[in-house]
Amino acid sequence: MKITLDEAAKMVADAQTIILTSHIRPDGDSIGSTLGLMHWLRAQGKDARVLIDDELPRIFNILPGIETIERPAEGKRYAADLLIVCDVELKRTGEVLPAVDAVHVLNIDHHVTNDEEAEYLYLNPDYAATCEIMHDLILAMGGTFSLDVATCLYTGMATDTGFFRFSNTTPHTMRAAADLIEVGVKPNIISVAMELKSYDEVMAQVRAIRHLEMFHDGRVAAVFIDEEKAKEVTTTEGLLDALRVIEGTQVVFFMKWLEKDTYRVSMRSKGTNVSRIAQVFDGGGHIRAAGCTIHAPFDEAKQKILMAIGEELNR
Ligand code: AMP
Ligand code: MN
Ligand code: MN
Repeated sequence: MKITLDEAAKMVADAQTIILTSHIRPDGDSIGSTLGLMHWLRAQGKDARVLIDDELPRIFNILPGIETIERPAEGKRYAADLLIVCDVELKRTGEVLPAVDAVHVLNIDHHVTNDEEAEYLYLNPDYAATCEIMHDLILAMGGTFSLDVATCLYTGMATDTGFFRFSNTTPHTMRAAADLIEVGVKPNIISVAMELKSYDEVMAQVRAIRHLEMFHDGRVAAVFIDEEKAKEVTTTEGLLDALRVIEGTQVVFFMKWLEKDTYRVSMRSKGTNVSRIAQVFDGGGHIRAAGCTIHAPFDEAKQKILMAIGEELNR
């Protein structure tokens, strides 16, 4: 059931024991929104913790409280008055959902593709980041921002907007971020940490770019990484940022081997609705940034995604 921000605020205020979670393959917005709200809830005397069923990329080690995030232990049960699922629909939270016994489940998200399966859902697809919603939620509860809260929320806003450059950046995003800078967040410290790469990661990106292919009259740039190539292309972090600058491209993406007959696709566009393409394969996202997993042998998966993109380009 969809609810308003004030109704969501009341649900949060009424709960004492709260578990926060987000999607697997965590990013700045998933970690920032859960951890940011956790800090605020703890400051209100609530029993709040974050469970995420995945490894956390080391760039997020600068976030205060990152060491408190737990991965659900096998067979362990977690009880709560309220489970808050942030920045994703319920089904992409790994093993968290089955491990948590919560009286109520509240989903807070900004993905236009949200499946609306949650018991309670506050969805704002006009916001660039779930952290932007958290900013409003805390204000709706009469709160203020500590530096810990602000650092987490700023990180999510910055990463989901490409540091306030993407088309999802609005006056509200900038004002919300300004509130956080006002209490002491240092934008340069966050951006340096988020963009940090090891030598090996830079070389992996170089190897990935060598596999660049162009399609659909230069409107599509893609890197296909099969099982063999995946051994040397150990990270795809930042790869799409390098492809999107190619003149004439509308859609850039990579397709990377995950396991036998399973490939992860990550797409970015300059207006073409890639979330609609992702949904063909049961994925989702936003108009200009989306992803999905394709279950097929390599050649078939490659053909399927290229065809789906071609159809969307010619709509
Ligand atoms: P990524 O390319 O992984 O950075 O993801 C871009 C956007 O698409 C993010 O908002 C993700 O939450 C979303 N997304 C990526 N993969 C999936 C998926 N398998 N299912 C649903 N949404 C996804
Ligand atoms: Mn996210
Ligand atoms: Mn997000």
